[in-house]
Amino acid sequence: MTHAVRRSPVWVVGGGLAGSEAAWQLAEAGVPVRLLEMRPHTGTPAHNTSYLAELVCSNSLKADYLESAAGLLKEELRRLGSLIMRIADQTRIPAGGALAVDREEFADGVTAAITGHPRIEVVRQEVTSIPPGQPAVIATGPLTSPAFSQWLREILGRDYLYFYDAAAPVLTAGSLDFSKIFAASRYGKGEADYLNCPLTQEEYGVFWENLRTAETSQAHLPEERRHFFEGCLPVEVLAARGKDTLRFGAMKPVGLVDPRTGRRPYAVVQLRPENREKTLYNMVGFQTNLRRPEQRRIFRLIPGLEEAEFARYGMMHRNTFINSPELLLPTLQLRGNEDLFFAGQLTGVEGYVESTAAGLVAGINLARRWSGHPPRVVPAATATGALLAHITTADPAHFQPMNCHFGLLPPLAGGKKGKKERKKALVERALAELAVFMRQTRD
Ligand SMILES: Cc1cc2nc3c(=O)[nH]c(=O)nc-3n(C[C@H](O)[C@H](O)[C@H](O)COP(=O)(O)OP(=O)(O)OC[C@H]3O[C@@H](n4cnc5c(N)ncnc54)[C@H](O)[C@@H]3O)c2cc1C
Repeated sequence: MTHAVRRSPVWVVGGGLAGSEAAWQLAEAGVPVRLLEMRPHTGTPAHNTSYLAELVCSNSLKADYLESAAGLLKEELRRLGSLIMRIADQTRIPAGGALAVDREEFADGVTAAITGHPRIEVVRQEVTSIPPGQPAVIATGPLTSPAFSQWLREILGRDYLYFYDAAAPVLTAGSLDFSKIFAASRYGKGEADYLNCPLTQEEYGVFWENLRTAETSQAHLPEERRHFFEGCLPVEVLAARGKDTLRFGAMKPVGLVDPRTGRRPYAVVQLRPENREKTLYNMVGFQTNLRRPEQRRIFRLIPGLEEAEFARYGMMHRNTFINSPELLLPTLQLRGNEDLFFAGQLTGVEGYVESTAAGLVAGINLARRWSGHPPRVVPAATATGALLAHITTADPAHFQPMNCHFGLLPPLAGGKKGKKERKKALVERALAELAVFMRQTRD
């Protein structure tokens, strides 16, 4: 990196979760940053506001207990000084064992922190290319604008991979029939934060039959174009797999007792609050690609939702990601142009917190390069490092986006352990390795 470049700001392209986190890490390390975000002048199919770090679908950042991989990842990010985690903790709302946030307060908090940072300049502009020699973190997300996608395709020299995800509907609380719905968290964990719509065997059968035969917005696409991420399948795709698939998935009744009958229902649909005021509820696990009239017709068959008003319909969206195993170093630098770093969902990590983790590491590493230190690889025994190791070393021929889970962490040495004991040992090892990494990075 030349001296002249060192004095001008580095670029962060995209002010989503990854870009905001990367900008924060850079600025906190003393690096001047220009954060370029195209909203509100140019929108995306999923964002609705001009906030930085807008959550485009669920307001849940998933499990927040340490014995889960999602909880471990969050804890690592907290220890690494994540802005996103700090604001998420400040704006959390009750959601059992999960970290859910008040969507608006969260995005507002991140936006205020970023725009108020003396070393960050926020420029509202669509980027269509990056000048040669300009150090940058590219974090334009799954809905990267078409013009920038075209430029990326040119510099990367190969086509993107792509697939489609689907988002769940949001319902207004005032339209729910509370005489049929009960509030409870599974196994009584935490407060009774979820609303549960219980279904009898007969009601479930009618619902399933209608869902299975419903009309989707993808009906016109040939079979080979209907790609979904296995961890986020539309509810109608799951229904088509078999009558009981949903009853063992999104509609499983385990850990729930209907107070009206004193028994476990045959199936349930869970609703999770979308905001602190609990005026909006998300249909948990009901991401869908059904046409809107079909969503109204079929989801209103669920007891308690007969009059449901849709504040947002479930929908399909594009998910753009690059072939990271071929293109990126484990430091998130582009092979062959090490001044360019990639972060967020565009790298093939999947999820809010995973995107944040990639942003944090890209930010730390560009800051190191800017100040003349070699970028560092996060140890693979941590959740953060395991995720990044996966996306940069997976088989490029079959690369698919990835959530964080314990299966990505290297196996433990020593004898066989029970599930609980194994998770505890993985967490202890991860946090110990993270502490060493942080000490060495500081030194
Ligand atoms: C519809 C949808 C629903 C999702 N639901 C969930 C969910 O419920 N839970 C979950 O964990 N994950 C979900 N994801 C996946 C993923 O975690 C999120 O997309 C997450 O926001 C990714 O973070 P990011 O920072 O990589 O991208 P984003 O948060 O999308 O940020 C990218 C930013 O770049 C900007 N941008 C794009 N192109 C340009 C350009 N050329 N110039 C300047 N700015 C640009 C965009 O406006 C945007 O602000 C969903 C994704 C989508 C698309």
